[in-house]
Amino acid sequence: MADQTRRERLLTFLLLPIIVVAVLVLTGVMFRSSFQLEKLREQSVVEATLLLANEKADRLDKNIIDQDNAVRSTVDVTDRAGFGSRWLETAAIQTPTVRAVFLVDLTAPGHDVVAVASRAPGPENERFRRLCVEFMLSEMKIDVPPYDQLRHLHTAYRGQSYLVSHWQTEHRGRRYLTVVWHDVPRIVHDLFPTLYTDLQQGRVNVSDQDGRIVFGPSLARRGPVLGRQFETTLYKWTVNVSMASGEELAVAVQRRRVLEMVLVGLSSLVVIFGLIVIVVAAAQERRLANLKSDFVANVSHELKTPLSLVRMFSELLQSGRVENDEKRRQYLQIIVGESDRLASLIENVLDFAKVERGRQAYHFAEASLGDVVTRAVDVCRLRAEREGTERELEPPPALGSARIDERALEIAVINLIDNAMKYAPGHVSVSVRRAPGALEIRVADRGPGIAPEDRKRIFERFVRGKPTEGKQVRGSGIGLALVKHIAEAHGGKAWVEPGTPKGSVFVLSVKS
Ligand code: ADP
Repeated sequence: MADQTRRERLLTFLLLPIIVVAVLVLTGVMFRSSFQLEKLREQSVVEATLLLANEKADRLDKNIIDQDNAVRSTVDVTDRAGFGSRWLETAAIQTPTVRAVFLVDLTAPGHDVVAVASRAPGPENERFRRLCVEFMLSEMKIDVPPYDQLRHLHTAYRGQSYLVSHWQTEHRGRRYLTVVWHDVPRIVHDLFPTLYTDLQQGRVNVSDQDGRIVFGPSLARRGPVLGRQFETTLYKWTVNVSMASGEELAVAVQRRRVLEMVLVGLSSLVVIFGLIVIVVAAAQERRLANLKSDFVANVSHELKTPLSLVRMFSELLQSGRVENDEKRRQYLQIIVGESDRLASLIENVLDFAKVERGRQAYHFAEASLGDVVTRAVDVCRLRAEREGTERELEPPPALGSARIDERALEIAVINLIDNAMKYAPGHVSVSVRRAPGALEIRVADRGPGIAPEDRKRIFERFVRGKPTEGKQVRGSGIGLALVKHIAEAHGGKAWVEPGTPKGSVFVLSVKS
């Protein structure tokens, strides 16, 4: 027993705090991982945006290079007279952003332009030619091998942006440079919109080397922006992509975080509630175990007392020393009375055991409740007379019959009268009356009564009231529990009311 208590204490004082701490740690870890997940989510958004920026930049490079290759496959450096004529045939379709193609003889001093093919002849071409020879050639790194490689120059003169593609070709010991002049405004106005049609609700723009937007909307209000320079062609410019709409993402993340927190909080509450239930159940179990051990002690005592009385008076009679007839009759009465008490106690215990195991079977039949009560009062007659208790049985009114288990109800009424004689000797009155939908048996005494806080409790099994006036009355604590069970089996209830002017009234109702 002591071992068990120690184990229970260990459970309460060691295990429970450990479980609570474990739950808290778990909650903490879950919160942290939720935050980490969010960071990862943000990271993946950054990665996705970067990927998008790269893809946007690569699209332009690929388009320009495709056009360059188309020019390269159609211009012939050996045919000066017909230079670029084949290219011009398909230029509008295949190379929409190319304005003109120039052929520069690099071997000749002064690097002069020796042939020109232009989609729009005019003074512009001459201006570009001069610009090319005077400024651009020096930027083109024409002396750096490999010479035949396609290269690009992205530069600006007088606030205007230029993009040229160029490569060198050797012919009969001379080096030629083919210069392809891309129309930058056209790239911006025609090519960009077709390349970036999927503008993702204004998430992309292009800015120049000074940060000025040359194409697309301002992204300043759209949260964080990732930029990537064009790698090969318009390499002084940058394509910018705003991260998946900052606020939308924040709202979604916030909502999910709240949900996760609520879930984690709820689970913790459930665990803590479960723990409280376990602790309360353990405490109740402990209380019941204590009550049970009291019950065993009480019942043993209850059995022992009448048994010793029976034995003592039998021995007296047996010894033949009792000469007085009156005394002999008195002793015999005590023996019979105590045997009755023993029998009813044993019956109570056996019935209670059946109830506890759920084996109590009731046998209902049509019978008169008044007769049952009269019989029960009769059974207690002898003891009442001996103990000097006045019994009063109001003649039961004509209640008719009800479906009842006669034996069970008799036991219940005997228990109530027995209690009245035990706890409130002097006067007990028993009555039966009709109430709405029920028949009530009322057993009233003029004893000490029951404290309001105990009125419900005393119907629980093994529960015994506090001794009144320091007088300990014998009992087992199962009588009223049995009464309650019997009443409920009859579709009724059992309760106690304060008596007038004092004492208590125990009521057992059965459904009528
Ligand atoms: P027991 O009488 O064996 O203790 P019961 O279940 O019959 O067990 O009663 C439970 C408790 O209710 C008693 O211990 C007693 O304190 C209280 N009780 C029952 N009947 C009366 C009564 N008529 N007057 C005062 N107290 C009572």
